[in-house]
Amino acid sequence: MLVHAYGAHAGDKPLEPLRITRREPGPHDVQIAIAYCGVCHSDIHQVRAEWAGTLFPCVPGHEIVGRVAAVGAHVSRYRVGDLVGVGCIVDSCQHCHECEEGLENYCDGMIGTYNSPTPDEPGHTLGGYSQQIVVHERYVLRVRHPEAQLAAVAPLLCAGITTYSPLRHWNAGPGKKVGVVGIGGLGHMGIKLAHAMGAHVVAFTTSESKREAATALGADEVVVSRNAQEMAAHAKSFDLILNTVAMPHDLDAFLALLKRDGTMTLVGAPATPHPSPNVFNLITKRRSIAGSMIGGIPETQEMLDFCAEHGIVADIEMIRAGEINEAYERMLKGDVKYRFVMDISTLGA
Ligand code: NAP
Ligand code: ZN
Repeated sequence: MLVHAYGAHAGDKPLEPLRITRREPGPHDVQIAIAYCGVCHSDIHQVRAEWAGTLFPCVPGHEIVGRVAAVGAHVSRYRVGDLVGVGCIVDSCQHCHECEEGLENYCDGMIGTYNSPTPDEPGHTLGGYSQQIVVHERYVLRVRHPEAQLAAVAPLLCAGITTYSPLRHWNAGPGKKVGVVGIGGLGHMGIKLAHAMGAHVVAFTTSESKREAATALGADEVVVSRNAQEMAAHAKSFDLILNTVAMPHDLDAFLALLKRDGTMTLVGAPATPHPSPNVFNLITKRRSIAGSMIGGIPETQEMLDFCAEHGIVADIEMIRAGEINEAYERMLKGDVKYRFVMDISTLGA
């Protein structure tokens, strides 16, 4: 089927209206009429070819929510009309150790929602800035939030799971001091989730203007990271720091804030490397630098259910499809509170 979408033909070209083809649902497929799609900084990195290997035309978008429009003959978990989501993963090998453990995000054969190989036209996957998507039921998530919150649920499918998974893995919770660096799409979810898990949360921002907002999101303390004195007050005190920054920056400033055996987990994926950190900041307190990529399908469902139970959604600003290029420019300036979400009903209008 032919559907309206928004994407780009080259890394230096703006996004524009496109028509793309979706396969007819196979026996295990769910066809989803997309209602909203969140706008992740990864969309910018990929569509502008800042990361290696972008395939064009590129249709970004991996924070997808909508309603089931059709199901294949063997689909057992979903029915037409169900509220569902799709995140960053639409397929994987389904038999490796990672897939068997529900860590499809670490499968070598993971198929991303956009820019991954597929037998479907045009030979690579096309994402959620589009009216419909067809996905194997294994990679479809159930949305249990009230329908009125659907648009604000969309960012949970990437920003939510990308922060939830490392917070769980490194045991954020009562008695733990957790820092969240960068209050953008990922960071604002990191603050909400770490707060809901019971940790003492400190938000780090480069933007003086976000100081009060960070408290409202659930931060117990806020540090403007450009202020050396404010930083020094937190030296050697953190169990975990979740770093979501999308640009290369000085990691030492944050490593010095970890206590003995503390970990800083990088989830931001800048196009060029961070300056190499000073080894002495690591060895003198047995500190770790780690990384984490999104989360597996079972944990993504767990995160969605946790958020539904705790009344957690993203803080969003809705945009029309035609506003996407301007939204990217505003994200690069840190000018979004805190996630743009595209209203897919404006596609093809
Ligand atoms: P975003 O909404 O643009 O937020 C990034 C935030 O980083 C900004 O709001 C800003 O916060 C801070 N920042 C930006 N430039 C900075 C600089 N030069 N120095 C210090 N802070 C700076 O981006 P996002 O959608 O949250 O994505 C963040 C990064 O995570 C991207 O690189 C994205 O590709 C990556 N990502 C990774 C995964 C994964 O699986 N690991 C998943 C999704 C996204 P303040 O104004 O508060 O300083
Ligand atoms: Zn993302």
